[in-house]
Formats: sequence, C-alpha cells, structure tokens
Amino acid sequence: MTTKHIPTEEEVLAAWSGLGYYRRARSLKRAADAIVDEHRGRLPKEMEQLRALPGFGDYTAAAVGSIALRLPFAAVDGNVRRVTARLFAVSSREGHPRLADLASALLDRRRPGDWNQAMMELGATLCTPREPRCPVCPLRRYCAARELGKVESFPEPRPQPRTKHVDEVVVAVIRRGVLLLLQRGDGGSFSRMWELPRMDTREVGKRDLTPERVLAELTGLEAASFAPIGRTESTFTHHRIRTRLYRAESPTPGRIRRPRHVAHRWVKARDMNTLAASKAQKKLFALLRDTLTGRQASPPAVVSPAPDSLRPG
Ligand code: SF4
Repeated sequence: MTTKHIPTEEEVLAAWSGLGYYRRARSLKRAADAIVDEHRGRLPKEMEQLRALPGFGDYTAAAVGSIALRLPFAAVDGNVRRVTARLFAVSSREGHPRLADLASALLDRRRPGDWNQAMMELGATLCTPREPRCPVCPLRRYCAARELGKVESFPEPRPQPRTKHVDEVVVAVIRRGVLLLLQRGDGGSFSRMWELPRMDTREVGKRDLTPERVLAELTGLEAASFAPIGRTESTFTHHRIRTRLYRAESPTPGRIRRPRHVAHRWVKARDMNTLAASKAQKKLFALLRDTLTGRQASPPAVVSPAPDSLRPG
C-alpha cells in the first residue's frame, strides 16, 4: 500500500466535522495507523488482532471480521439485540450476554457477513422499536414475541435520562476581518477541536454567565461592549443547550491568554469550515459568516427552533 499523504487526526476531524460521534473519527484514524504500522497496511485476519485495534469492541470486530474476512462471529448491535430479544421473547433482565449467545447460535457460518447485515437491516427497517411490520417480516412464523402478542414489550425499554437545559454564552472576537478560535486540549468528546470562546451554566451560575466573563476568563481580553448576534439551540447527550452569541465590540488589543485551551488561531470566513469543529460550533460559524464578510445577515440570525425576542446585532 502506498500513501502520498497520511492525514493527521486534526484533518480527519475536520473532514468529519458536524457529524457528531467524534470519538469514532479519532478511533478510525488510530485504527488505520495501527493497520499501517503493525500489519503492513492489511486488515489482520484473526479476531483477537481485530479486537486489539483502537476503537474495535466486540461489535465492530465482528462486523468488520464477518463482512471483510468471513469470520464466523455475530455482530450484535442495538438492532440485532432487538430482533433477537423478540424472536426468543427474552427480557432485558436476562441481559446482553444471553442475547449475544442466541445471536451467535443463529449465525449462518457459511455467509456470516451477509447474515449479520441482513439481521441489522431487518432491525432497522421491519423490526423497529415501535410499530414493527410483522405481517411482512420473513421471521414472523418463528417469532415468540409475535406469538405472545407482545412484540413491543421486548426488549423492555430502558428508562431514559431526563433532558437537562443548559444556557451557554459564546463570544466572537473579530479583528480586521478575522475571527478568534480556541483549540480544546486532549480528553472529552471534543478533544482537539476548535471553538469560539464559550461557557455555560454547568460551569458558572446563570447570573454570572455574561459575555464579559466569558471573554475575560478564556482569553484575558476586555471589550467596550457586546452586541448580540443571534441564538441557536442544540442537543448533546441529554442536554438541551440554548446559546446566545455576542460580538465583542472594540476588544482590547492585548495578548491572548488561554488558560483552558491549548492553542488559538485567527481565522478568515472562508477558512472556518476547514477546521475540526462540532455541529453546534458550525451553526455559530454560519451566523458569523455575514458579519465577517461585511454582508448584513438576513433574515435576523436565529437558528432553530423558532426565534424569540431578538435584537439584531
Ligand atoms: S415478526 Fe415482528 S417482532 Fe418478530 S422479528 Fe419480525 S418484525 Fe420483529
């Protein structure tokens, strides 16, 4: 295998930006590196070697091994767990290992890749969590849950954590047409990704969450005033985040101090989308693009859901 350019993790994250599940992008990059460095660019052929690749748990190793190498292992994702639980009327109290054993016993060992993909597809298209399409299901004659008339009782639904509401304040510092972005350090879901200076009510009390504080604490700068630019809403792992975006007017020209970030960069509008950034940050970049390019944002800058009282920046 020859490779002209091996992308860095940051380049992989930039290409993946806005899709979520950034840990998967990092694992994909590390797994590709391990395949190149330790297996001479070829997928290892043993299940234990696959499991040892970064980011490869039982499911990924079985899916890749069965589809790419015909290894006889059942890939048990949420869809397959649901189909199997219904086929055998197994309650979730009996747990995942029992469902994995049953899925493995069902596996067609001559065509494990096709079997695994068929089971996943069945769960995604017919045996859905709600209102499964049993009358057209090829497994209907064998399905214990259907026989019992309790298809939606299997597997038992897990209690969902309550959604928490979070308020966030973000500050755009713009100097001569370029925007200040900060890079997060290692660790957490957004490791090494770029963002505008931001804080939320998980870090400070609602009353103390002001653009002045965000700017001073994250950059060491001050501003004459702050103009509201827009609002966005986003969801992240059971948190509903309401964001208010401000522009720092006449920010002090001093040196950037960034106690919580590992790097900063001044970015032009046309370069904003080349950096690794979360979907929520990309929404904010979109609000700022017109401001950076000198065009008037129209209509007023509010991103879903429906606007509430907003003064244009
Ligand atoms: S018969 Fe219904 S519940 Fe049973 S596997 Fe098929 S779609 Fe799922």
